[in-house]
Amino acid sequence: MARYTGPDCKQCRREGAKLFLKGDRCSSGKCPFDRVETGARGRDTAPAAPGQHGAARKKLREYGRQLREKEKVRRIYGVLERQFHNYYLKAEAKEGMAGENLLVLLERRLDNAVYRMGFGPSRSAARQLTLHDHITVNGKKVNIPSYSVKVGDVIGVSEYSKKKDSVKALIEAIASKNAPKWLEVNAENATAKVIALPARDDIEFDCNEQLIVELYSK
Ligand code: SF4
Repeated sequence: MARYTGPDCKQCRREGAKLFLKGDRCSSGKCPFDRVETGARGRDTAPAAPGQHGAARKKLREYGRQLREKEKVRRIYGVLERQFHNYYLKAEAKEGMAGENLLVLLERRLDNAVYRMGFGPSRSAARQLTLHDHITVNGKKVNIPSYSVKVGDVIGVSEYSKKKDSVKALIEAIASKNAPKWLEVNAENATAKVIALPARDDIEFDCNEQLIVELYSK
């Protein structure tokens, strides 16, 4: 499955916000957004958007705000436009609010669930762990990052992978992470049971999903 392979920080600069795409580095003080200086006339000089005219941030109109919100969520979950739009179509076809349904579908991705259980410092790292056969669901290897977890699923780490030093360090880190309430994490065994579907208030970042619905409803 295709994915974005460019610099992560460039994506944050484009959205003008921290998207926490690089794991521990994002909270280490090395993030360009944490090095914001006070520029001329006392204004904060946030990192400029990429491109020749990136420094000239324009005031966004309605369409621009909708587009930026969609791009922000798409980049956080690391999916490309076509796949994101397919998630929206599925969300719209379900009962309830399309925006909330969309976030829940994204949150149920296996790579996201692996990240939220604390195994891997970022969603992209969790995606790599999944692709490299380290992850099991109900005892069977699953290497599909978009696999949608359901209630009762038990996510784990394969026995072979547990012996690898690089994986051992990641397993040790699970205990120090806060998992959402829809996952029951056993840090010792490196497993997480899905005890409920994620809800809107389980989403860990600010999001106005209504803007995404408006964008796709045009
Ligand atoms: Fe880079 Fe992380 Fe900061 Fe984004 S939040 S700019 S990915 S260090």
